[in-house]
Amino acid sequence: MSKTIAINAGSSSLKFQLFAMPEEVVLAKGLVERIGLKDSIFTVSYGEGQKHSLTLDIANHDQAVQMLLDTLLELNIVKDYSEITGVGHRVVAGGEIFKDSALIDDKALEQIESLAEYAPLHQMAEVAGIKAFKKLLPNITSVAVFDTSFHTSMPKKAYLYSLPMEYYEKYGARRYGAHGTSHNYVSRRAAEMLGKDISELKIITCHLGNGGSITAVNGGKSVDTSMGFTPLAGITMGTRAGDFDASLIPFLMEKENIATVNEFIDIANKKSGLLGISGVSSDMRDVESAAAQGNEHAQLAYDIFIYRIQKYIGQYVAAMNGVDAIVFTAGIGENSMETRRDVIAGLSWFGCEIDSEINKLRGEEYIISTKESKVAVLNIPTNEEVEIARDVERLRG
Ligand code: AMP
Repeated sequence: MSKTIAINAGSSSLKFQLFAMPEEVVLAKGLVERIGLKDSIFTVSYGEGQKHSLTLDIANHDQAVQMLLDTLLELNIVKDYSEITGVGHRVVAGGEIFKDSALIDDKALEQIESLAEYAPLHQMAEVAGIKAFKKLLPNITSVAVFDTSFHTSMPKKAYLYSLPMEYYEKYGARRYGAHGTSHNYVSRRAAEMLGKDISELKIITCHLGNGGSITAVNGGKSVDTSMGFTPLAGITMGTRAGDFDASLIPFLMEKENIATVNEFIDIANKKSGLLGISGVSSDMRDVESAAAQGNEHAQLAYDIFIYRIQKYIGQYVAAMNGVDAIVFTAGIGENSMETRRDVIAGLSWFGCEIDSEINKLRGEEYIISTKESKVAVLNIPTNEEVEIARDVERLRG
């Protein structure tokens, strides 16, 4: 048995899961929050529901990784560091370089750093996580799993913008998409649950979390996705605007005295979406309950969220000339029966119908469509971490 850690590093956080591989048993999982701030919080759950948490100052990702490794030893989750044979890092931007997950050698690390411009909020935090593990456990297999890799199968007509061609040729200005690990995982699980070969299926996967994206998966390959050059594009998200007309940027900058374009982009990323429309919260649970209590802006935020998802599904039915299955996943997709019900209610023309009783269930994998439905509808909890651990195993050979 080998032990593999899946890491998802953010600018001030580091999420992890430790797996026994190839059994895919989760031995521990946890989170370091507020890295670089006072009173960082470290939590880990392990064993049969045991929990361990502490608050202390963690200055940087190096210290967070050291603390994580020390704690695994202290809690006897690993007896010796040599039991850990691999680490997989989620990396947001793989650009056109990484069409698959990759072993991280010096060249790959340089390439990952060179893509920082494509994901300014994430990439350097991920690089910090990679470097911290390289320093502390230099001999283990280190793998990068890219959010964008799954989408590198998109055809040119889907990933090119209608901007001058030279911008793509000179700077790589194109759609890259994100959440690829999740779209890949749930589309393959859907095929397995339906007892079909994925090569025969047209699937639309709806990853609806705090960030959200919709992907058209034809024959197991991503052929289009709603996120763009960065994760700002597409559907309405927790705090991100999704698609909007770029001409609004100079217009609103002038009206609102916004000094720089970056400041505006920050508003579009952090103060828009469900939060911006509802004025209540970026969290769907709060938006749903405020709407239920008659808050009109919360209701509007919810309605816009649903409407955008329906429009993307419609686009992707057209893009693939059909659809066999629609999959819901991530925090909202897995848990909000209202979202699944309301999205599908608008697709009856496609012959889509769900069973309202099965739709109430959550926490596991369910086929929620009725027997009569022409399109299968599934609720599948995503599992990006296990995909990361599998890729570490695969590339370790
Ligand atoms: P994620 O980014 O995948 O963790 O998803 C976070 C989102 O899932 C937040 O908007 C949560 O409000 C939402 N979510 C989690 N549980 C529920 C629930 N029971 N009903 C509605 N939304 C939920």
